Amino acid sequence: MNLDLNGKYALVGGASKGIGRAVATELALLGANVVVIARTEELLKKAVADLPNNGNQKHSYLVADNSDPEALRNNLAAWLRETGATIHILINNTGGPAGGQAIDAKPSEFVQAFTNHLLCNQYLAQAVVPGMKEAGFGRIINIISTSVKQPIPGLGVSNTIRGAVANWAKTLSLELGPDGITVNNILPGFTETERLESIIGNKAIKTGADEASIIEQMKLETPARRFARASEVAAAVAFLASPAAAYINGINLPVDGGRTASL
Ligand code: NAD
Repeated sequence: MNLDLNGKYALVGGASKGIGRAVATELALLGANVVVIARTEELLKKAVADLPNNGNQKHSYLVADNSDPEALRNNLAAWLRETGATIHILINNTGGPAGGQAIDAKPSEFVQAFTNHLLCNQYLAQAVVPGMKEAGFGRIINIISTSVKQPIPGLGVSNTIRGAVANWAKTLSLELGPDGITVNNILPGFTETERLESIIGNKAIKTGADEASIIEQMKLETPARRFARASEVAAAVAFLASPAAAYINGINLPVDGGRTASL
């Protein structure tokens, strides 16, 4: 099985922490040159320094905030101009929208989430797809949520926006498949990151239940009876990014310990 990413460049969003950081690590382990994106330069410098490196890999970072898609696009355009590099692998990932019921959400919350997720994905894809086409190799992988198969109560804005991203991705997979570019979505289940801690904390405040019993209940809902490690989600991403996954296109892959109830 060809998992070799030597000589390939990967751009990974939300990579200072959590799932994004774990994805950056797995791609670096397969040999890719990794460009990490997030808002805080100090964290990014540390993330780059911590990435595995066989001595030939050129890891770097881009400081950008997904709530300002034009700035994100301009930063990437400048990086592409300066380096002359081609991005072969794009990992669309950023912080998830705040919780709450859809009916209570302000229109501005939907606009913000649409901006941070769909518009940024679109700008990044538009910037890197010409290079992917020229290379005859491209991977666009979006980290979204199992809510595209089964909406999660209490994540109204997130459920809505994830559906839009999933349909955007499926559409792109049809358009870009002939160029050797695949577009797939990873749907993480409960994964041990700061995002999960804050979801559990908010649930405890809202329901008055203690965090330990909330965690126990969440694990009971999961056939694996435990939360995922970020590296387990990242391993699935890395496989989809590899040459071995060339014939997998347009899918939604849950990495959720079997929790999603649909087929
Ligand atoms: P996390 O909060 O641990 O990490 C999010 C990363 O995104 C960090 O690097 C953060 O700095 C960056 N980020 C946040 N807002 C940003 C912005 N405006 N601009 C640029 N970077 C920004 O989250 P995570 O658990 O790693 O989740 C990653 C994605 O997966 C999220 O969209 C989340 O909703 C989704 N997800 C997570 C879980 C889970 O259980 N952890 C489950 C399903 C889906």
